[in-house]
This record gives sequence, C-alpha cells and structure tokens, in this order.
Amino acid sequence: MKKVFAAQHPFEAHLVRGLLEGQGIEAEVRGEDLFSVRGEVPITQDTLPSVWVLADSQVEQAMDLVTAYLSKEAPADTEATEWRCPDCGEQIEPQFTVCWKCGTERPEDPPDNV
Ligand SMILES: [Zn+2]
Repeated sequence: MKKVFAAQHPFEAHLVRGLLEGQGIEAEVRGEDLFSVRGEVPITQDTLPSVWVLADSQVEQAMDLVTAYLSKEAPADTEATEWRCPDCGEQIEPQFTVCWKCGTERPEDPPDNV
C-alpha cells in the first residue's frame, strides 16, 4: 500500500480515487477525518486527505495517472476563458478572479450564458 497523491481537499482526493478506480486500480482515501480538524492541528502532509493504492504493482501506473491528472487540471482549474471587467472594460486573463485595474470581481455567470 502506497500513497500516490496528497490532496488539498477531500473532494479532490475522491476525484483522484475515482480516476484510479476507473482504470481498475484499487485505491482508498485516507486522512479525511483530519481535514475537519484543520486549524486545531498543525497542517502537514499527514493532515491532508491522501489517496493510497492498495496493490504495489499498480503504484507506478497510478502515479502516471495522477501526474496526467495534475498536468491537465492545474491550468484548467479556473475557467479558461478571458473575461471583460464589467466596471472598466479591461480584458482579464482567465487565471485572475479580480480585475487588476480596478479590483472588480469576475462576474459569476457570463451574461450570455444566462
Ligand atoms: Zn476593472
């Protein structure tokens, strides 16, 4: 049994576990219980929810999947479209959630999607 992934949030840990199980790799999430007491215990890798692979023979494959997940997920975490500030009209890069010019927050829903 080996840890292949340390998540920032239980949701992410379960997402990765589902990804692995979809590939036939038995995995389990550990450390979720500790997540709820964060703030009371020191934050270390051990207090983060983590994903463990049961079979050592599948660890390498699991690592590859996690790596692929991370490289795909990281840039697409926020919506990958530029947005226009409703206040000053500045065109903002997708990774920013507030306008760098006037500090206006990105609107939750683009008007054309409503
Ligand atoms: Zn602005």
